[in-house]
Amino acid sequence: MKSPVHVLLVGAAGRMGKTILDLARNDPKIDIVAQCDLGDAIDPAMKQSDVAIDFSHSGAVEEICRAALQHRRPLVIGTTGHSAEQRSLIEKAAKAVPIVFASNFSVGVNTLFALTRNAAEILSREFRPEIIETHHRTKKDAPSGTAKTLSEILSKAPRTDDQIPIQSIREGDVVGEHTVIFAGPGERLELSHKASSREIFGRGALRAARWVIGKPPRLYSMQDVLGL
Ligand code: NAD
Repeated sequence: MKSPVHVLLVGAAGRMGKTILDLARNDPKIDIVAQCDLGDAIDPAMKQSDVAIDFSHSGAVEEICRAALQHRRPLVIGTTGHSAEQRSLIEKAAKAVPIVFASNFSVGVNTLFALTRNAAEILSREFRPEIIETHHRTKKDAPSGTAKTLSEILSKAPRTDDQIPIQSIREGDVVGEHTVIFAGPGERLELSHKASSREIFGRGALRAARWVIGKPPRLYSMQDVLGL
């Protein structure tokens, strides 16, 4: 059997961090050799790892990219809510190390992305798209990274108006729900995804971590990992 991939987990004490630790415990292909959370030094932990997975806060990205560049390590970034400058930092780092940057690591949501692209091409002009996303009350960013990705996909289709409304609802302990509505004259099409467990994101991130090692430097999406 091939030796397991050595992973640094950033944001290890958070909801996603704990989910990934649980999954990794039962995965012989993954060994979490280093864990960082708020206040921990990322550089030495990066050095001892083959790849880093980040589910923390957008504010961590500068230190993560600096350490990845210093030690030439690939990254899997699941954190959302980055500013334009923080995103350009990630894009710049991806010129030197391979990075999978995905607002959503679930197979279902990445299928929703593909279906939304397809539906927008078919329904453009006569149908007005709209996005509704619901998450737990403690989610820090709004709209969600997934809603922003859906909006980017919709804005690439030929359209009659430019504004794609996004409704963000924060309530209870909802893991994540996204609906794209295409409203046309006399009919409405809705594409919906509902996550009931954080494991779907964790499994996707671990799959991306194994996939990204040895890839040429570039900014990859989860669609690249899944071959969609
Ligand atoms: P959380 O608040 O439960 O956990 C975040 C953790 O990161 C906390 O333990 C916090 O102390 C730590 N942290 C904050 N700043 C840090 C820093 N500078 N360095 C290191 N650690 C730091 O949040 P969560 O629900 O686990 O989500 C984490 C991130 O992942 C969010 O941005 C969320 O939107 C995103 N997310 C992405 C996906 C996806 O599929 N891409 C899925 C779920 C969540």
